[in-house]
Amino acid sequence: MSSTKTIGIIGGGQLGQMMAISAIYMGHKVITLNPASDCPSSRVSEVIAAPYDDVDALRQLADHCDVLTYEFENVDADGLDAVIKDGQLPQGTELLRISQNRIFEKDFLSNKAQVTVAPYKVVTSSLDLEDIDLSKNYVLKTATGGYDGHGQKVITSAEDLEEANALANSAECVLEEFVNFDLEISVIVSGNGKDVTVFPVQENIHRNNILSKTIVPARISDRLADRAKAIAVKIAEQLNLSGTLCVEMFATADDIIVNEIAPRPHNSGHYSIEACDFSQFDTHILGVLGAPLPAINLHEPAVMLNVLGQHVEAAERYVTENPSAHLHMYGKLEAKHNRKMGHVTLFSNEPDNVVEFGKGIDF
Ligand code: AMP
Repeated sequence: MSSTKTIGIIGGGQLGQMMAISAIYMGHKVITLNPASDCPSSRVSEVIAAPYDDVDALRQLADHCDVLTYEFENVDADGLDAVIKDGQLPQGTELLRISQNRIFEKDFLSNKAQVTVAPYKVVTSSLDLEDIDLSKNYVLKTATGGYDGHGQKVITSAEDLEEANALANSAECVLEEFVNFDLEISVIVSGNGKDVTVFPVQENIHRNNILSKTIVPARISDRLADRAKAIAVKIAEQLNLSGTLCVEMFATADDIIVNEIAPRPHNSGHYSIEACDFSQFDTHILGVLGAPLPAINLHEPAVMLNVLGQHVEAAERYVTENPSAHLHMYGKLEAKHNRKMGHVTLFSNEPDNVVEFGKGIDF
């Protein structure tokens, strides 16, 4: 049997594009499914241009590919179940269902994987908010459909309840206790269905709920870093993980609390393309193909800066002044405000001196 495969990726954005580039290096062929035919992955793969919930298009993709994967978690799991052949989607649709719904996700994390999450309860209407103890702070999050802080309401006093009640009556939610974290961190872990490999701990700085800067290694103690990696591995093992998963966590002074999981390569892992001996995209492709996984080494401390639509000129200027910085542009045709257009990775031992694009201008 040929070791060259045709890999089908659902989603042709930057994550699909970077997965495809890794796959092509390894000699595979890639087809992506994306509503727009001029998407980022079109530069490096064939594209089937159709909506993600188009079952005929999913079937066409499945018929032409040995292995399927996805670049985002809001894929129609039922549609996929209807078209995939045995073993064709090594990540499975169960992981999709868990990460599409915060109620399933919290239940999986706390009861199955048995890792620490913020104390939470399921909220099905505003009645469930009537007896909450307002001496504590909370975040109310819709169970499905939320992203980048949308579908969330922080509750710090009775004044926040009107909006929170409206949110609770509009959709099923989870109510989490607010975590007074020191740092937001994440860990990338990849599996091949048997073994896992884990990346260094990443420190993440968000602006307007969008990732702005990632610093690796995260500035936490070795003890907490080991704990964060062990948590990511525990989750991956519980899932019999295939491919790459990102575990987002909060680091407090003496504990690690899991926030959420994303069953795919993640923006906070982009630094690994240059800063590690294998990238999160390489291990994703190896993992979904069931190939042996390498141990991951960080060459040098690194910083990744996101380039949003309003930062493109600043980023281009930056790399002409700092030619050892690696500029990645995803080939998106229109630079909209807050749209992720690219990123820059550089090696630095002084992450605080690496200034985010647009700092003080656009945030
Ligand atoms: P999420 O959509 O769950 O990733 O949340 C978006 C952002 O809201 C996170 O990156 C945190 O900055 C913040 N956040 C979410 N949940 C909590 C929490 N329980 N306590 C404190 N901050 C939170």
